[in-house]
Amino acid sequence: MSRLVAHLAVPLDDPAAFLRDLKVHLPDDMPADAAVDAETVFDLYGTRTRLRFEAQMLRIAVEGEEAGAHGIARGAAAYYVQAVLGARCPLLRWTGDGADVRDLAHFREMRVVSAHRLTPRMQRVRLAGLDLARFATGGLHVRLAIPPEGRIPVWPHAGPAAMPVWPTGEDTLATRVYTIRRIDPVAGHLDIDVALHDPPGVGCRWACEARPGDLVGMLGPGGGDVSPADWTLLLGDETALPAIARILAEMPATARGHALIEVADAGEEQDLSHPRGMIVEWLHRGERPAGTTTLLAEAAERVAWPEEGEVFVWAAAEFEAFKAIRRHCRKAVGLKKSQHLVVAYWRRGRLAGDAADDD
Ligand SMILES: Cc1cc2nc3c(=O)[nH]c(=O)nc-3n(C[C@H](O)[C@H](O)[C@H](O)COP(=O)(O)OP(=O)(O)OC[C@H]3O[C@@H](n4cnc5c(N)ncnc54)[C@H](O)[C@@H]3O)c2cc1C
Repeated sequence: MSRLVAHLAVPLDDPAAFLRDLKVHLPDDMPADAAVDAETVFDLYGTRTRLRFEAQMLRIAVEGEEAGAHGIARGAAAYYVQAVLGARCPLLRWTGDGADVRDLAHFREMRVVSAHRLTPRMQRVRLAGLDLARFATGGLHVRLAIPPEGRIPVWPHAGPAAMPVWPTGEDTLATRVYTIRRIDPVAGHLDIDVALHDPPGVGCRWACEARPGDLVGMLGPGGGDVSPADWTLLLGDETALPAIARILAEMPATARGHALIEVADAGEEQDLSHPRGMIVEWLHRGERPAGTTTLLAEAAERVAWPEEGEVFVWAAAEFEAFKAIRRHCRKAVGLKKSQHLVVAYWRRGRLAGDAADDD
């Protein structure tokens, strides 16, 4: 396979300040000792990325072997430059290999195969698409791009910065993040389970009205996974149920821990396959609206934590529950950053995308 190399040059006023901010955006990828007076080499989406400062100029080179990963890394590098520079960011344009490629390696056009009600408030949509192997690893989640009703979809493509250029105006796509509940790359399909709520949003309506043959865009995968541990605690409401179900199904048979899942009532419980050592407990909120209870945080407080061994907590829920669980993990239990992944999947009264914007 031949080596692919692309270059990006970005004029900078203050290289030292830029590097400091970049380390904040890329804490896991950037070497801590990266400096403005030496070349920094690090791995970004499976590519070798080189960063060099020359007077008032940042020079980035992305080297890779697989065109898809190379394109994703170029887009990611440009994204981080933009995130650091904000409104001061000049127009970014890659040169070299892949500079003219319009396809996004992490985008697929998907076709609805079937849709049915799994439980009274959970709709399963099966989607088929080409070349799905990359969606089976590297993250549980995808962003669905839902086309406007009655229009032939116009999909995003890669721009000069290798980042997605989204259609606008009448072709604007609504995007919502969901979990791949199950994927079969060989058969070429995957399942998305959508929690139904009232009033419904775009995503909820799409799932209910999905008919075989409908087209939807899909970008991904992404999102943090569970780190291996001696004991694992999984916490979540119905939006996290697809992720918890998949995590449980993919855990090693020897896994030990506890999964606590909040749903409306017994009718929303699902038969989950899980290792014998993982206790699955359902919490019912009854008539109370989703996102208004403290069931998950209370459950996290009463759960019997092991006396020894490495623990890991994975939790996803509404914003208020997320804050309470995270507080408990950090303050009361004293978990390190590497021992927990606690996130907000949605926020009461806010459209998707606004969920985790402040705390
Ligand atoms: C990484 C990640 C993975 C996710 N995976 C899944 C998944 O697999 N399945 C799934 O169903 N959801 C999942 N979610 C949550 C989902 O993206 C949000 O619930 C999203 O808001 C749904 O979009 P919508 O168009 O239906 O509602 P929106 O248009 O976003 O919101 C409309 C209104 O509905 C409210 N609302 C949104 N979600 C709910 C809810 N669950 N219950 C009650 N009210 C709600 C909002 O607060 C708002 O007032 C995930 C979110 C993230 C970040």
